[in-house]
Formats: sequence, structure tokens, C-alpha cells
Amino acid sequence: MTKYIFVTGGVVSSLGKGLTSASIGMILERMGFTISMQKLDPYINVDPGTMSPFQHGEVYVTDDGTEADLDLGHYERFTDTPITKDSNYTAGKIYRSVILKERRGEYLGQTVQVIPHITDEIKAAIRRGASSAPDVAITEIGGTVGDIESLPFLEAIRQFNLDEGPGNCLFIHLTLLPYLRASGELKTKPTQQSVGKLREIGIQPQILICRTEKAMSRDMADKISLFCNVRKDAVIEERDVDYSIYEVPINLVQAGLDRQILAHLGLQPRRGAEWGDWKRMLDTIQHPEHTIEIGVAGKYIELHDAYKSIYEALHHAGIAHACKVRIRKVSAESVANQGADGPLAGVDGILVPGGFGERGFEGKIETVRYARVNRIPFFGICYGMQAAVVEYARHVLQIPDATTTEYQPQAANPVIDMMEEQKSIKEMGGTMRLGAFECTLAPGTISQRVYGAERISERHRHRFELNNAYRARLAEAGLVMAGVNERLDLVEIVEIADHPFFVGVQYHPEFKTKPMRPHPLFREFIGAAIQHSLHCRGASRAAHIEA
Ligand code: GLN
Repeated sequence: MTKYIFVTGGVVSSLGKGLTSASIGMILERMGFTISMQKLDPYINVDPGTMSPFQHGEVYVTDDGTEADLDLGHYERFTDTPITKDSNYTAGKIYRSVILKERRGEYLGQTVQVIPHITDEIKAAIRRGASSAPDVAITEIGGTVGDIESLPFLEAIRQFNLDEGPGNCLFIHLTLLPYLRASGELKTKPTQQSVGKLREIGIQPQILICRTEKAMSRDMADKISLFCNVRKDAVIEERDVDYSIYEVPINLVQAGLDRQILAHLGLQPRRGAEWGDWKRMLDTIQHPEHTIEIGVAGKYIELHDAYKSIYEALHHAGIAHACKVRIRKVSAESVANQGADGPLAGVDGILVPGGFGERGFEGKIETVRYARVNRIPFFGICYGMQAAVVEYARHVLQIPDATTTEYQPQAANPVIDMMEEQKSIKEMGGTMRLGAFECTLAPGTISQRVYGAERISERHRHRFELNNAYRARLAEAGLVMAGVNERLDLVEIVEIADHPFFVGVQYHPEFKTKPMRPHPLFREFIGAAIQHSLHCRGASRAAHIEA
């Protein structure tokens, strides 16, 4: 029988609820339990696909083609549980299905209300999230306790706990202990008030996880226990990490979270949890042998969350080479305005990530040109791959007005064009080419070598593609069509053979990487960047000696 854990957050947003939930999932998996992970988001958008990355950070994509909250990325990076369309529900998605049922007359004349109809729909969504019948289903509730919009979700989990009966549900509340520099102390009042709010609506958290920048003393934990009605040893410290988010699961185990979860759910571990490999990985992160710098030229670089999975993927690839990867965030627009030389001087590799629209696209094209002619390892992802194709068409094929119809619909030379099946689509939400598609790799290519496979599957999110009308000419001019979806006849990977590393992919490899299992293309890209950096350092040392 499945047991349920609900993770709520209090005091402030951005506390790291996603990371903490993912860590809980990982801790359970390491004890031999099967799990499922789910996020409930209280906003009204049906999914984050129509939101600007500045609003919501990156849009994560699942294998089955859902555009989802970026916390699902943490779930996939920390755990081995499959993430599906049922792993993320928003208020909008819940309301949409209730309203559709109402229109079909399924409520048989009743007045449709938040309680019980919306809350029933939320409870059904929680059960769908656990349809694999795992030992433990973990559901994170987005937003902060006290928000108006999260109330139906909190009410639903209160009812859920009642339906399931004693010992089957566990409420974990993540809270903040702010540190007041003036008085030099941590404060518990916001936590008391946040737990008070939860208790008002009938939820008594059994475990409190306290985010703090300073050590939480035993006295402080006892005080929180007394005022919040939580057992003393269930007040768990979650200190700010020193050097990596991947410290969080181990820190939580050291603070006793694993034992508390087992005790509250009445579970016996299936096996003794092994953390040796994880500790060795953390040690590698802490003591790298190399340091390199990768330039990421994008449109949303001001916001770290906008390219979260890209940065994590680079970090994972670095771990495989015992290499610290510094990121130089470069605005693609600044490259368009002032050229690539200044902003990208001295980087060891260049990555152009996905994106949409006109702003920054010319800068991305110039960034690709800079990487290509200066033989700097280059990795282009989605819009970045499309920029690479446009650049090749303009400067190698000598078609100066080559472009994408994404921002020049009447282009004379649309080397990137809208996919045929996209042309009739009018609605914006959830209508791109989404989710996992197969790709066949050409022999003798970088991709085929590093994947070590002939067929792969990767996740997509785009409307445009390499225009097949230009494929033969591009190939003749040396652009290698390294991966193709044979069924749809779409080019998915382009490479340049005469270059240390030049790969553009139409899909999003950054969604399939874990700290100890980096994505093969990212791993190879970082390997090439290390070679580039050693070569440059060697060259500058030689010049120095000569002088
Ligand atoms: N804007 C491009 C398209 O829709 C690329 C999308 C992306 O980078 N995710 O095809």
C-alpha cells in the first residue's frame, strides 16, 4: 500500500522546496523504496509553457510531452523515478477539467464548488501521480502557506490524510529561520506563525525542516518543537550548503530525516542506504583538477533559473572530468551590439541555448561564427542549433539573407522553417513538437561515437526545423547531418567534422543528465573545452618563455 508524503513551504518563497523534495525522494530510493514524485502548482496557467522564463524560469519537458515546472528537473536529477504528465498539476489544469466536466453535464445538476469538486479533482490528481503504486508517493505543494491561491490544495491534502487513515500520510513543512545580524540570533517566530496557519486549516505537520544559514541549537529546536506541536527530534536542520546543492540529501540524512520519515510512516528500510558513491562525487566537486570557463550566450541570462538544466548539465559533465565549470553568462544582444570578441574572449567553450523570437538571435548567430572560425568547442541547443545552421548558410554557403521564418516570415532563404504540421495550429499552449522522439545517428559522427548507439531518444520543444529544401546544399558545403528522425524526415543533429567540437542539436539533452551519469554530449563538450584550455595555456606559456 502506497504511503504519501506532502511537502509544504512557509515564510518565504524560493526556500528550496523542490530540492528538498527531490532529496527526500533520493533518500527513500537509497533505502530501497520505490517512489513517485509530483508537484502541485497553485497558479492558473494550465502549464508553465506559455509563461516567460523571466516569470517562471525554464520550462521543463517530460518524455511524454508535458511542459512542466522546473522542480521536476530536480526530481529527475536526484531520483530514478519516471516523471510523467501526472507529475505536475496546476490550479489551471485542475479547474479546466472540472469546467469541462460541468459542460458535459457530469455533475448532474449540482452546484459546482471549490469544496468538494475542486478538492476532489486535486485528490484524484494526487492518486494519478501515484498510479505506479510506489511504496511512497511524494507530493510537493507549490507556493507559500498563507497564499490565497494555495488554499484549495492544502484543503485537499487535509482531506486526503483523513481518507487514507492514520499512519499513511506524512506532512513535512519546510520553513526558514531568519538570522538577525544585529542581535546575532536565529528567529523562530515566522516558523511558529507559518505552522499556526497550517494548523488553522487542519494540517499538523509532523516534521519541520528548518532552512538556516547558521547552526540551529538544541534549545532552538526544542523551542520550535514546543510552539509548533512537533516532536523534538522531528525538527530537522537544513543548513545552507557550502559548495553544491548535491550536499542537501546527505546533510538531511545526517540531521536524522531518514529515521524520522521511517518512524512516522511505520516503514522498515528495504536495505541499508549506501552513500559512498555520492560522497566520492561530492569530494570530486570540492577538489577539482581543472577549471574551465564556458560562455553561455542567451537571451535570459539575468535569471539563473531560466537555463537551470543547462547549467546543471554543464556541472555534471564537469564532475565526470574532475573539472570545475565556471559559467560566463553573456547576453546574446550584447554580442549583436558589440561583437563576440569582448564578451567571449578567453572562454574554453561556447554554448548557445534554446530560445524564442527575434531578440538576441543575431547575437547568437555571431556567437556561433566566433566559435566556428576560432575553433572553440561549440554546443548549440534547439534555437542554438538553428542559429548554427543559419550561420553556416550565411557564411559558408554564402547565402547572406539566410534566416529563420520565426522572425522573418517572408524570408527569401528560410533555412529554418516552421514544421508542416505546425502551420495550421492556432493555440499556443502545449502545441509545440513536445516530448521524446527517436533519432538515428550517422556512422562516423561525434554523436554516434559518444552515445555509443545507433538510435537514441531525446526530448523536444520547438515549432521550427532545419528546412529540408536546403539540406543537400548544407551537407555538400560540409555541415554533417549527424542525426535524423527517419519517420518525420527531420534533421536533429548537425556537426562540423573539421573542428575540435561543433555540435548542434534540435532537442534538449539538458533534460537527461544526472550528477553521476552526465549526458554524453555534454561530457564530450566539456572534455573538448578542457583540451582547448590546456592548449591555450600551453600556447600562452610558450609565448611567455619566448618573450
Ligand atoms: N524558437 C525555436 C523553435 O520554436 C527554438 C525553440 C527552443 O529553443 N526551445 O523552433
